[in-house]
Amino acid sequence: MYACLDMGGTNLRGTWIDTSGNRGEILSRSRPRSLEGTKNALLELIADIRESAPEEVHRVGLGSAGPLDYRSGCYLRPTNMPELEYFPVAEFVQEQTGLPLLLENDAQAAALGEVWSGSLAGSQDGLVLTLGTGVGSGVIFGGRIWRAAHFTGPELGHIHLGFGRPECGCGQVGCAETWLNKQALLDLFRDYGCRVASLRQGIDRLREEEPQARGVMGEYGQRLGLFISILQVVFGLQHIGISGGLSHFLPYCREAVWQTLRERFHKRQWWLPERIQASPDPEMSGLLGAARACILHERDNWA
Ligand SMILES: [Zn+2]
Repeated sequence: MYACLDMGGTNLRGTWIDTSGNRGEILSRSRPRSLEGTKNALLELIADIRESAPEEVHRVGLGSAGPLDYRSGCYLRPTNMPELEYFPVAEFVQEQTGLPLLLENDAQAAALGEVWSGSLAGSQDGLVLTLGTGVGSGVIFGGRIWRAAHFTGPELGHIHLGFGRPECGCGQVGCAETWLNKQALLDLFRDYGCRVASLRQGIDRLREEEPQARGVMGEYGQRLGLFISILQVVFGLQHIGISGGLSHFLPYCREAVWQTLRERFHKRQWWLPERIQASPDPEMSGLLGAARACILHERDNWA
């Protein structure tokens, strides 16, 4: 039984999950913008999960925004959580609760979760994009996270997709993230003369079949199709999952994504993926991945 947590800039969420993927209700609390506040919130949430779990919790899995070092369980210099700079979270939680903690980048955790028990359940290989405030990515080969040398996995959201967007958080201009993240989508709604204050309102406009909103989805789908075509040239994976808050828009831009892919690969149709699937529950991707990371860790260490 694991306590699985998901930590971002403003929120800390978590629940218990067992080795079969059974899980409890998601508990959530806001994360104070200080190291002390974060420490307290973490301990409180772990205590609440232990109390609600039907069996004893013996490990904590934490999927988190980074950058972080998953091997040592320590943060590096998190872009949106500067107060957690070099915070050794695994050491802290072990000292305070007696529970070992496994730290994982949130996008890697989401990919692992989707392949284990989400949109790509049943496959061993897959690429998962997490579209939200940023654009996270994870590549799973043989049921495992494919790692890069920079402490996490491939940083596909920072592939160059063209100039014309503001500088990315990573310091480069033209990153896929700046073309496909939440801000990019809100900007598109504005450019098409479609006034929406939030993404939820964007979905409402699409449900009402407003022509401008459909235009937004056509252009967003082309961008996503272009991005996926680049990734397919590199990885050539059959199964592509989409998680994150923007995954709710996939049904509305799916046709434009596929059309772009078919046009770009018109001479090499076999480069097309088999499926592009939205997560059935994007709120759960990272939490399920945190549990799966714990399971794999234990399997490796008992083998
Ligand atoms: Zn970037």
